Amino acid sequence: MVFNEKIVDPAELRHVSGKIELYWIYTSGEAGDIFFKKLRDEGKFIATKCKRCGRVFFPPRIYCEFDFSEAEYVEIDGKGCVLAFSVVNYDSDGNKLENPEIYALIGMDGTDGKIIHLLGEVEPENIEIGMEVEPVLKPKDEREGKVTDILYFKPVS
Ligand SMILES: [Zn+2]
Repeated sequence: MVFNEKIVDPAELRHVSGKIELYWIYTSGEAGDIFFKKLRDEGKFIATKCKRCGRVFFPPRIYCEFDFSEAEYVEIDGKGCVLAFSVVNYDSDGNKLENPEIYALIGMDGTDGKIIHLLGEVEPENIEIGMEVEPVLKPKDEREGKVTDILYFKPVS
């Protein structure tokens, strides 16, 4: 079933049975594009800083969502601290993983932003909230300009 009608009057809304095919293209936007290219080409992390209020956005945004002022690009070191984590023992099909994966919410140093990513080179029992971590990237020739260019975050040694 493909929809090609546009409903602008809420009174015309109705229930539809069956599957609805949806098509979309996701773009990372101007700031996301710069972020991923910098990560891929130089292995560096970019955030943006509001020129008015000074908030630092990670992932980077071109405008401040609080005062709508323009933001400027700033380089950050990619380090952060673990704010929360979860140990995943089963894959999405319910099969037990041979090696559990650890996902963490990481507050990025020098920013007001966070990222959810894998932790590596650490056992679950050794993880502490507030633990400092740093990114481990793919080798440069394997990077694609994706968040998976970051293999995982590991404890700062
Ligand atoms: Zn602002």
